[in-house]
Amino acid sequence: MLWQRDLPGANLVIRGARVLDPPSGIDARLEVRIDNGTIAEVAEQVDANEHRVVEADGLVLAAAFVDPHVHLRTPGREDEETVASGTAAAAAGGYCAILAMPNTDPIVDSAATLGALVEAARREAEVPVGFLAAITRGQRGEELTEMGELAETGAVAYSDDGVPVASAGLMRRALQYASSTDRPLALHCEEPTLSHGGHVHEGRVAAELGFAGYPSVAESVAVERDLALAGYEQGRVHVLHLSAAESVDALRRAREGGVAASGEATPHHLVLTDDAVRSLDPNVKMNPPLRAEADRRALLQALRDGTIEAVATDHAPHASHEKEVPFEAAPFGVTGLETAFAALYTYLVEPGLIPLETLLERMSAGPARIYGLDQPRIAVGAPANLVLLDTSGSWQVTEAGFRSRSVNSWLLGETLRGQVRMTVAAGRVVHEG
Ligand SMILES: [Zn+2]
Ligand SMILES: [Zn+2]
Repeated sequence: MLWQRDLPGANLVIRGARVLDPPSGIDARLEVRIDNGTIAEVAEQVDANEHRVVEADGLVLAAAFVDPHVHLRTPGREDEETVASGTAAAAAGGYCAILAMPNTDPIVDSAATLGALVEAARREAEVPVGFLAAITRGQRGEELTEMGELAETGAVAYSDDGVPVASAGLMRRALQYASSTDRPLALHCEEPTLSHGGHVHEGRVAAELGFAGYPSVAESVAVERDLALAGYEQGRVHVLHLSAAESVDALRRAREGGVAASGEATPHHLVLTDDAVRSLDPNVKMNPPLRAEADRRALLQALRDGTIEAVATDHAPHASHEKEVPFEAAPFGVTGLETAFAALYTYLVEPGLIPLETLLERMSAGPARIYGLDQPRIAVGAPANLVLLDTSGSWQVTEAGFRSRSVNSWLLGETLRGQVRMTVAAGRVVHEG
């Protein structure tokens, strides 16, 4: 279900790092030898076997990250991102696998469009990439796609991300068909008759600035509806980019009630609140919008306790000319692949809001589990999917530093701690910095 360009497997020894792999309970200073892309030995001392030796004293070696929610903008907007540039950005961010959303131009709603993307990934992808296909044709919310055919062509799951599936009846049938292909639905939960015209969370900041409000309840009623339908149909759903405390409560209750539901949160929703909108920077405009501090705290608690199993960047590149407009006119979305770990390390781990181990799990094994992908792990015999992290140094986020074709980051100009020094994805060294 994941594709990348063919490269030789690495022969490498990594020495001196603190090896941290929460799912296998490893936290020790160990050496790791990789033979032809496969982890061959993990021990206090390993033979170099004439491999290249990477001296990693003071660094953390962890399982590389999986981003379950990326917009690669191809086909249609290759000026903003391509498979090559998006996966290079992923490599720089420490990712060994990413999943791309289907709201491109054309929409990925046919085997032909999906097949062309798979071919592009085989030619260009620096790290393994998988694709979601649309739930409805043209994401118009009127008729379902051929889910069986899309699954056979390689679709990992189905999503109309960008827009909600407005009809409950159609959502119910989507759950039935998706189940028959053993793939989840990934849901952009938004009730358009409540969110319409809103640029900013409905609250004090929107009122002060005179913006139309996009209330939390526009998300949470859609989350409640889809969780109820998933429970009724015994289908699998994954709730994209959770933003509101009420939505998190609904997800927690549904999971406790046995519904096969999962959820994700983005770095921007975990770090920022609608206070950031006072800057009128179009790079803090996203859908769903940044919400209140109580919402952010609910997301953090859910990330800690596992109700939210995954961090997803919702990496959404936009051309500069589209973002260099007044706030109300700017499109929704920000980039995130290259800054996710550093942002969360700086704003959540260092202040003690979440343990590093938990963050690593939610950025790697958690998202892989949701979509049935192989979980990256540091174990003998496993393919090398590793990230080497420098948690002591700091770096500045600049436009020139991005591999992405777009620079619409909410972190531009900020100094962050936590830097990706090396990424090994599917056994190949894909990034060194
Ligand atoms: Zn969305
Ligand atoms: Zn998205």
